[in-house]
Amino acid sequence: MEMQDVIEEGYVGILEDLRKRSLWMLHYCTACGAIELPPTITSRFDAERFGIAPFVTSRQSDILLVTGYINIKTLRRIVTVYEQMLPPKYVIGFGSCTINGGIYWDSYAVVKRLDLYLPVDVYIAGCMPTPMAVIEGFRSLMKLIDEGKANGWKKYIEDNAYYKENQRKVLG
Ligand code: SF4
Repeated sequence: MEMQDVIEEGYVGILEDLRKRSLWMLHYCTACGAIELPPTITSRFDAERFGIAPFVTSRQSDILLVTGYINIKTLRRIVTVYEQMLPPKYVIGFGSCTINGGIYWDSYAVVKRLDLYLPVDVYIAGCMPTPMAVIEGFRSLMKLIDEGKANGWKKYIEDNAYYKENQRKVLG
């Protein structure tokens, strides 16, 4: 291997390591599960010890945290926010409602599966997930970043026609 390649590989490795330890999260509080976020990010469970901190703008955030059921009106905003974020970016579906609609599974107004519309890197199951489960979800994402497997944002570019078609079916 050329010296240049060794340096580049080392540089990318360091970058990935730093990235996984500095995750700014935009929590898009769509529903009731968001109530478990305050204990997760404040002193009791202290998500910041893992480098995870809440942030207020899409442009500077790394994680889009969708905290619960998504109705059709909300989906449009979530997609807009996700597209405003700069890559690499990650999506976490928080709560059973983002996986299968949860207790709203038969509602005409609720979107049942977030991953049909956006590339979800990690789901955190539960209704509502406990702070421990949320921290575990963050740690799973960090592991995926470390292994170079948190590539949902690339999938969104490569399979954009698939996501856009699904979005169009719901949003028109
Ligand atoms: S999974 Fe439970 S807590 Fe979360 S949004 Fe759905 S109903 Fe609310």
